[in-house]
Amino acid sequence: MHKSSPVIDSKLPRVGTTIFTVMSKLAADCGAINLSQGFPDFQADPSLFDATWRAMRAGRNQYPPLAGVPELRQAIADKVASLYNAVYDVESEITVTAGATQAVFTAIAAFVRQDDEVIVFEPVYDSYVPAIETVGGRAVYARLGYPGYRPDWQQVRALISPRTRMIIINSPHNPTGSLLGADDLEGLAELTRGTDIVILSDEVYEHIVYDGAQHQSVAGHPELAARSIVVSSFGKTYHITGWKVGYVLGPAELMAEFRKVHQFNVFTVNTPCQLGIAEYMGDTSRHLGLAAFYEEKREFFRDQLGASRFELLPCSGTYFQLARYSAISDLPDREFACWLAREVGVAVIPVSAFYRDGQDDRVVRFCFAKQEATLAAAGERLRRV
Ligand code: PMP
Ligand code: GLN
Repeated sequence: MHKSSPVIDSKLPRVGTTIFTVMSKLAADCGAINLSQGFPDFQADPSLFDATWRAMRAGRNQYPPLAGVPELRQAIADKVASLYNAVYDVESEITVTAGATQAVFTAIAAFVRQDDEVIVFEPVYDSYVPAIETVGGRAVYARLGYPGYRPDWQQVRALISPRTRMIIINSPHNPTGSLLGADDLEGLAELTRGTDIVILSDEVYEHIVYDGAQHQSVAGHPELAARSIVVSSFGKTYHITGWKVGYVLGPAELMAEFRKVHQFNVFTVNTPCQLGIAEYMGDTSRHLGLAAFYEEKREFFRDQLGASRFELLPCSGTYFQLARYSAISDLPDREFACWLAREVGVAVIPVSAFYRDGQDDRVVRFCFAKQEATLAAAGERLRRV
């Protein structure tokens, strides 16, 4: 402790270390199988590494353009046009970011002023509210009701005020695996019509939807797209969460404001990875095949837990599976998660971490983006409790 350290009035007095880091550390400390933090435990496709390596060897190692390399922006534009029938201008409407976390933070910093209100849905992904509060905004909480986790647009209507600057949606939804349908986007369009509300749509799991459902991107809804920043991440799509490369889409007027902040926040994102991803995107089966790939894992993991005392909730998208554990324990979910890691050897995320007031429905989140051997080993342990 330095005697002369200034006394800091924390901007985020209630924020500790993210639950994902806490649980991954606990898993490592006690040698538990880590189904907590969301990341694959298998290797990405080596041809992605080869493409990136070739870019490095070709000398593509200096600053790329502020918005991202043109090759990658073009590949993104092509994908979005073909999937969502949406036209985004490569020059002015697509920006490559250092993952989705930076995209979300930058979008909030670009549009939210002191005392502005931002509507979020609980359970809420953990980075949104700290970003809002860092820039002086105020989070206003709508609920995805347990256990269906559906939005209630009448409730949202009642929360809108003259100070509402932004609404943040996330589909497929982390942590619940629920999806927004076309009717939800209609509801949101109706609520925001005639207002200056910006929608921030976190769609990082856009390619991971199950049972034949179609991802409803805001990009594919022209009225909403005109007031939206859409966020995605290659970390989820190509099994490279550690690369931290994502992107945002938005109409030129919004994107111009986004870039004003982005240029002084990260400026640019590493060049060879962008070029490697751009080349890799040329084969569309890689993102189009992702849903089937993870659906198999979902089935495998659900089968593993079939004979356990965990009660599985529906999972329509993402690589997360929620489960109730009230047949096993009366412990609050954080304590249960610690017990499970220490005594059973499986680490999970307690879902109360996604609620401001710590609402605890005795539900935990498992990540099944793992090799079958990992899921089978976890299943074996989980069936014993
Ligand atoms: N949003 C959601 C809903 C997420 O689940 C994640 C990561 N798990 C992110 C944003 C952050 O993505 P990135 O790792 O690309 O920053
Ligand atoms: N978003 C990932 C998850 O939900 C974790 C990302 C992080 O650790 N910040 O598990």
